[in-house]
Amino acid sequence: KLYNQVQDLKGSIRVYCRVRPFLSGQSNHFSAVDHIEEGIITMNTPSRHGKGQRSFSFNKVFGPSASQAEVFSDMQPLIRSVLDGYNVCIFAYGQTGSGKTFTMTGPRELTEKSQGVNYRALSDLFQIANQRKDTFSYDVSVQMIEIYNEQVRDLLVTDGTNRRYPLQVICSHRGHSVPDANVVPVSSTFDVIDLMNLGQKNRAVGATALNDRSSRSHSCLTVHVQGRDLTSGAILRGCMHLVDLAGSERVDKSEVTGDRLKEAQHINKSLSALGDVIASLAQKNPHVPYRNSKLTQLLQDSLGGQAKTLMFVHISPEPDAIGESISTLKFAERVA
Ligand code: ADP
Ligand code: MG
Repeated sequence: KLYNQVQDLKGSIRVYCRVRPFLSGQSNHFSAVDHIEEGIITMNTPSRHGKGQRSFSFNKVFGPSASQAEVFSDMQPLIRSVLDGYNVCIFAYGQTGSGKTFTMTGPRELTEKSQGVNYRALSDLFQIANQRKDTFSYDVSVQMIEIYNEQVRDLLVTDGTNRRYPLQVICSHRGHSVPDANVVPVSSTFDVIDLMNLGQKNRAVGATALNDRSSRSHSCLTVHVQGRDLTSGAILRGCMHLVDLAGSERVDKSEVTGDRLKEAQHINKSLSALGDVIASLAQKNPHVPYRNSKLTQLLQDSLGGQAKTLMFVHISPEPDAIGESISTLKFAERVA
């Protein structure tokens, strides 16, 4: 039955959108989002000339009341396909504060109900692997890295060495990878929770209240799956990248200088490189420009070909975020 579900996933690139709720608890706030229906989001775009609206259409649009479980259940067939040997990439895109980390990881005070995609994906994989244990034997392992200023660092270190050694992306017969980042075998959700905590702790190093570095780096949880068919002995390998991208907001070049400007340029460059790669795959363009950023180099084997990609864009409902929201939706429209 699972095999059939995988076949049912038409096309290898899908685009989802999620609008987060207002944070302060005021529900009768004016929202930048006018309405959502059947995969179409309509934005209010007031201007000097009066009221305006603009609609965008995607494979799926989740409104502010969508639960973590609801969002995950729509992604489940895609995630499960990694157990059948597919490569999968899921990206959370959007301006800082739009809910990327909420979707992928969850809120700061995590409960079982509020767990994001990363936790749910791994526990689902363990569950399905267990259901198939009479026919398949699976090994699951994870890596967690961040890309900051085009440098790759390991987030699964316990001694703080990740800040000292940027890692190389290597291309071998098995494809592109970061062989020097720790690969940790996992077999239960408890293992996963410990690792995520470690990764998050390492990601926060160097951050201060005014300088939240996590919003300016890409973090990537990579899940490697190897399955052995117990009757034929055949081996299949699948890989899934769950990526919480750096904030997509444009910084005002006249207002930032030095390190902030350099960060902004790196983010800008890598997000447009990602957009270019997905757009050329969507257009079936024979030349795909993977080499323009570390992120696209690293994910090369999981973008295009047989791989399945989900671009998940996030929108803040506040009227003052409308400019960024529209540019996020335009980015998504281009890769859809
Ligand atoms: P980002 O990672 O894009 O910067 P966050 O995920 O940190 O954004 O979200 C910003 C704030 O909004 C956090 O306090 C988060 O818990 C909250 N938030 C985001 N999405 C939702 C949601 N769907 N439901 C409830 N709270 C959310
Ligand atoms: Mg975040």
